[in-house]
Amino acid sequence: MSNRTLRLTLCSLPVLLAAPAVFAQGQQQDFSQVQIKVHKVSGNFNYLEGQGGNVGVLVGDDSLLMIDDQFAPLSEKLVAAMKTLSNKPIRMLINTHVHGDHTGGNENFGKMGIDIIAHDNVRVRLARGVNGGAASPAVALPVVTFGDTITLHLNGETITIGKLPPAHTDGDSYIHFANANVIHVGDVFRTTGYPGVDGGNGGTVKGTIEALQKIVDMAGPDTKILPGHGVVSTRADVAAFRANTIEAQRRVTELIKQGMTVEQVVAANPTADLAPKFVTSGPQPDQAATTRFLTTFYNALKSEL
Ligand SMILES: [Zn+2]
Repeated sequence: MSNRTLRLTLCSLPVLLAAPAVFAQGQQQDFSQVQIKVHKVSGNFNYLEGQGGNVGVLVGDDSLLMIDDQFAPLSEKLVAAMKTLSNKPIRMLINTHVHGDHTGGNENFGKMGIDIIAHDNVRVRLARGVNGGAASPAVALPVVTFGDTITLHLNGETITIGKLPPAHTDGDSYIHFANANVIHVGDVFRTTGYPGVDGGNGGTVKGTIEALQKIVDMAGPDTKILPGHGVVSTRADVAAFRANTIEAQRRVTELIKQGMTVEQVVAANPTADLAPKFVTSGPQPDQAATTRFLTTFYNALKSEL
């Protein structure tokens, strides 16, 4: 299992301007140092913070439902953290999207007999290998997939999993918990980074803006939005992120139309003042993160013109 993480890791290292694998994250991470923190969100819904995407956990009388599973070396720690919430078994695992920092534990959890649910495209991409990495073994693949929406009725909660427009990837889902009034939105929205448009896995800027609008429309004023990375947020936070994404789209598109190359756009850093608006928790993006963002954003926008 660590081999698989290593492969994702190695293929993502030096690729600054070619984009895709930068989304796998966790490069050369010493997972032994990672501690899992449990955060209560609302009602019986919690999330686990460790290394990688936020792990949503719905605690019920009969079982637990989890969303995303970070990296394979962290599975035991995630299970231990969930046991502090409940001794009931984990029944299902939903993947918000295909990236390795959200699906890296699939094989471990699949081997525990937990059913994995995801959008059709997540299964297709995992089955053939993501970002040049190895194909996932059958046990790591979703056993339930859907095209548009699927509804679960578990532990007195109504859980709607729905496809978002192709935004971060072409398999992004939101997971809406009606009673808890929570939406887990995966990496379409995050408070720790720029918008992440992974064109290599079907993501688009246009779809990101549409997906963010869909989340805003779905949420009420008191709905808690759990991002793929970062802290619990509100509908207004998502709306602001969308407005800033549109502004970044406008600026970079203008430079593309002026004929600037990706290197020239990176050098110009036209979205410098937007960085603190996108990144509202955690450290501000460094030069490498800004370069990755502008490169992927430029490439996506160019293909969308
Ligand atoms: Zn991602």
